[in-house]
Amino acid sequence: MGWLLDWKRKRVLARHSIDDALWRRAQRHLPFLAGLSADEERRLKELAVLFLAEKDLAPVGGLVLSDDDRVEIALQACLPILELGIEWYDGWVGVVIHPSDFKVTRAETDEDGVRHEWNDELAGESWPGGPVVLSWEALDDSGSVAEGGANVVIHEFAHKLDMMSGEADGVPPMPSRAARERWIEVFDMEFDRFCGEVDAGKETFLDPYAAEHEAEFFAVASEAFFESPNALMRDFPKLYELFRGFYRQDPAQRLAA
Ligand SMILES: [Zn+2]
Repeated sequence: MGWLLDWKRKRVLARHSIDDALWRRAQRHLPFLAGLSADEERRLKELAVLFLAEKDLAPVGGLVLSDDDRVEIALQACLPILELGIEWYDGWVGVVIHPSDFKVTRAETDEDGVRHEWNDELAGESWPGGPVVLSWEALDDSGSVAEGGANVVIHEFAHKLDMMSGEADGVPPMPSRAARERWIEVFDMEFDRFCGEVDAGKETFLDPYAAEHEAEFFAVASEAFFESPNALMRDFPKLYELFRGFYRQDPAQRLAA
């Protein structure tokens, strides 16, 4: 069925595009889109068009999205897959956008069989095979905090890439077994070092939240890779190299140019 999907995608691209004025407004708002070559820019716009055609962006709670809003979400979601391809987001369609951070009820049964329930307030969430859920409030911030490296869109979509190989565990699909082993070796080393720094109360460039789980470390470091690549390269050079290999992009070099 691959040919049918290819044909559909070609048809979408023949009919839709992102106009220049809209692209320039998005670029002003999202400084990490700077430094792309003309070819990269063209491919990113195409990915965003396909993303908007194939995904269902559903604002809830009275939220209304403009065309600019939709395009900006799509561009941020597609930057990580610029060299990977839109297929990396296959298997689900929903992107739910809440007006602000949203509450979810969590439940866990402990070893004594006692059930605990609590509320979490989240800026984003993603599930295997399910939708990506985002908070507009957090999303609206992401364009303007480039120095801080926070970006809820890249964060949640990085979880999606991670989950392409099953559970979210900080190990996205790798081209070979050797590559996977190499990834785990370097990634775990950097994760352990980071957790040690957080435990020691050291000030860290990455959000200490990343110490909660390997999957969060991958998502938070992915935000930094695209938004503050120089800081990531300075503090986690081996991780930066690993990400450069996986994403097949070099944002530090791009943003320096
Ligand atoms: Zn997360």
